[in-house]
Amino acid sequence: MSKIYNIAIIGGGPGGIASAVESVMLGINDVILLEKGENHSTTIRKFYKDNKRVDKDYKGKKIDLEGNIYFMDGTKESTLDLFDKILATTNIDARFNTEVESITKEGDIFCVRTAGNDEIKAKYAVISIGKMGVPNKPSYPIPPEIKNRVFFNANSINQNEKVLIVGGGNSAVEYAYFIAEKNDTKLNYRRTEFARINQTNKEMLENSINSGKLKTKFGIDIVSLESENGKPKVNFTDGSSEVFDKIVYAIGGVAPVDFLKKCNLELDSAGVPIVNSACESSVKNLFVAGDLLFRSGGSIASALNNGFSIVTEINRRLAL
Ligand SMILES: Cc1cc2nc3c(=O)[nH]c(=O)nc-3n(C[C@H](O)[C@H](O)[C@H](O)COP(=O)(O)OP(=O)(O)OC[C@H]3O[C@@H](n4cnc5c(N)ncnc54)[C@H](O)[C@@H]3O)c2cc1C
Repeated sequence: MSKIYNIAIIGGGPGGIASAVESVMLGINDVILLEKGENHSTTIRKFYKDNKRVDKDYKGKKIDLEGNIYFMDGTKESTLDLFDKILATTNIDARFNTEVESITKEGDIFCVRTAGNDEIKAKYAVISIGKMGVPNKPSYPIPPEIKNRVFFNANSINQNEKVLIVGGGNSAVEYAYFIAEKNDTKLNYRRTEFARINQTNKEMLENSINSGKLKTKFGIDIVSLESENGKPKVNFTDGSSEVFDKIVYAIGGVAPVDFLKKCNLELDSAGVPIVNSACESSVKNLFVAGDLLFRSGGSIASALNNGFSIVTEINRRLAL
């Protein structure tokens, strides 16, 4: 039987770091932190300019820190340095380059599935993936004339459209067999083997292809996109070209709202997860920290406080 962690924390920004570090301070063992970037704090590394001033009371909103992380006014570099040090001294089991694709519940245990198709099991889960996650884009340009026909999720596909899905992970395959039910659909993957998808998706993919609903173009990449009368014309590495009504890229980096929906969280009309005073979502024992809890705004200090109060509550429940 695979190991069951006490807490799986998704996202290694301030909310995730606080959840992990405060767990260790409370004496909770078997805690794992999963971060899709190469290191912790991708938002701070990527979106803050070098030497940027970092305010504790961000945008003038005074917040008293409740936990054990001594965060204060500083710079991008001093903030990253603080997080480096506390993660190292508390010896957190942090896995970088690990993007979480979904969280499902099997009985009382969460099954956290990564893009690399690993499954991590935990009694409690904390989602703190922030709002800055953007879907991965192709390396070649998307001409402006067709931008309104190129998507990074399947929400805008209607019926009877000619659709190209691009990608080889679980999301691409799920979109493909679902969309193929009501549309002329082709799945394009640059490889021939789908090594990263789960068994259910493997079977659904085979059924959809064998029934003739889903067309395929495997082992072939895309060279470029053009506009043909406002529709995307796709040029492939085998020299062929084809025009579609719409293209959906599912090549990693799911947008936060789609991720939350996939995890079955109830959201309000602005896409903010509905939580109770302990930051617990509509799914029992699944908590949310940080920027995800705000329509706009959010700050490092409030994310740190969320992490502290969440693991204090988890610690109480573990002791019952
Ligand atoms: C330009 C800018 C300046 C700012 N300046 C300040 C300031 O001076 N003071 C202040 O208090 N706040 C500031 N903020 C706000 C602050 O950065 C956020 O409030 C804070 O980072 C929120 O923390 P978080 O943990 O919720 O999310 P994030 O910091 O966004 O962290 C989320 C983490 O989750 C990871 N992740 C995302 N999806 C997945 C997935 N599927 N699987 C695994 N990992 C995933 C991301 O890579 C990221 O590392 C600023 C924000 C910006 C953009």
